[in-house]
Amino acid sequence: MSASSLDTLLAGGVRGRRVLVRSDLNVPLRNGAVADDARIRASLPTLKRLTEAGARVIVASHLGRPKGEPKPELSLAPVAAALGEALGRAAAFCGDCVGPQAADAVAKLADGEVLVLENLRFHPGETSNDADFARALAALADDYVNDAFGTAHRAHASTAGVVPLVERTAAGDLLRCEIENLQQIREPEHPFVCLLGGAKVSDKLGALEALAGTADTLCVGGAMAYTFLRALGQATGESLVEADRLEDAHRILKAAEAAGCELLLPVDHVVAEAPEPGPSRVVAEIPDGWLGVDIGPETARTYAAACEDARTIFWNGPMGIFEIEAFAGGTRAVAEGVAASSAASVVGGGDSLAAVHATGVGERITHLSTGGGASLEYVQGIELPGIAALEGKA
Ligand code: ADP
Ligand code: MG
Repeated sequence: MSASSLDTLLAGGVRGRRVLVRSDLNVPLRNGAVADDARIRASLPTLKRLTEAGARVIVASHLGRPKGEPKPELSLAPVAAALGEALGRAAAFCGDCVGPQAADAVAKLADGEVLVLENLRFHPGETSNDADFARALAALADDYVNDAFGTAHRAHASTAGVVPLVERTAAGDLLRCEIENLQQIREPEHPFVCLLGGAKVSDKLGALEALAGTADTLCVGGAMAYTFLRALGQATGESLVEADRLEDAHRILKAAEAAGCELLLPVDHVVAEAPEPGPSRVVAEIPDGWLGVDIGPETARTYAAACEDARTIFWNGPMGIFEIEAFAGGTRAVAEGVAASSAASVVGGGDSLAAVHATGVGERITHLSTGGGASLEYVQGIELPGIAALEGKA
């Protein structure tokens, strides 16, 4: 990545300067409190380095999808409190991200202090990358740091529009770390094994197609496997099949074959009568009236074994409805297979990370990406607008 680094920005001096940091504080909330602070913790290193160097740090983020208007339940206020606690110094909070209220709050900042701005997406100009909104954000700051990897695949005002409007820009430490790790997936050492699962083929079409071209082995699980099986004429019962994606599935199968990639599909399945706790059994062929809720044990062994000899592994998407304990076995076996391998391993996706943590193998995986969608786009070779904007400025 040719974007300027945080090292360079700090070397140039930040004491007394207003530095706008675009972080990814889009954390899950439950009953108004932060339910999982992983993204808060991931954003700390950059914020700490800036405060320790005496910058006046202004943190901006989105939270959820308020669709361009204030939604009290999507306020960043509880996140600001949690961030302050994690930082070990109080973070001030401002009820708007632009305008006079924000300007006043910034003016009150002393060197080394932190201010968290209200949810960027309370303004429609954020996602539309509106020029006036970008100018209003830029007016708060001297310099700008993008550390929001999870939003780097979006050309929004806070990730792209603001960049040419400030004096100096830099990629934060989290953004840099994500790119360095994901670079290994773009240029993998072989054997390169990919595991893709989750709910839909349509969510991950681009990744399936691109990885079929670079992986030595591509293991497909989750609901998306049934669309492939249906395309091949196999029985899928009541499983989640995207009938309008059968041609896409055929194209991916052909692309894999042409590239010499071994595309593996489940050979056995855990089936249930409904996607909820209840009777289930293991079958080789899905009977009428039943749906696939997890890969079967033989498939799980095969996928885990594929990881053994790999030098690079990329995994995105659970192998079954892992939220239900009885249907979590395949996902857990894969998580253990990835962790047991000596390969450089990268896992992305909110649900996949939840599965990794539930299995307790997080520490044995090389990199857990904080951005599901952004990591999928990056590994398929798409230029991320947030990074392109920084590089244009380098
Ligand atoms: P990630 O967040 O890791 O990118 P996705 O959001 O793409 O993963 O997919 C996760 C979802 O896919 C989970 O909610 C899981 O229950 C669902 N899923 C996986 N396998 C199945 C299946 N066989 N049938 C229905 N849903 C499934
Ligand atoms: Mg998900």
